[in-house]
Amino acid sequence: MNLALDPYCPWCISILETMNHFMLECPRFHSHRVVLQEQLRALGVTTFDLPTLLGATGIDSSRQSAVLRLTCAFLNKTNQLQRL
Ligand SMILES: [Zn+2]
Repeated sequence: MNLALDPYCPWCISILETMNHFMLECPRFHSHRVVLQEQLRALGVTTFDLPTLLGATGIDSSRQSAVLRLTCAFLNKTNQLQRL
């Protein structure tokens, strides 16, 4: 994210593009986010924040890799991996 020349989200005018905005707030990815949230809930994960999504913080070790896999799938679907 810090490598982007333009610090603002390309889809939300005048909102700084941060990992937090992209993962948790940007309406552009809402539908993908809803899917991710449902998949996490199916795993018994109800916390939806950056530490959980990126590091599976506070999640039972048996489910950590599954959570990270879902986050990667989200990143792939949003096609934002190359922008990070
Ligand atoms: Zn946005």
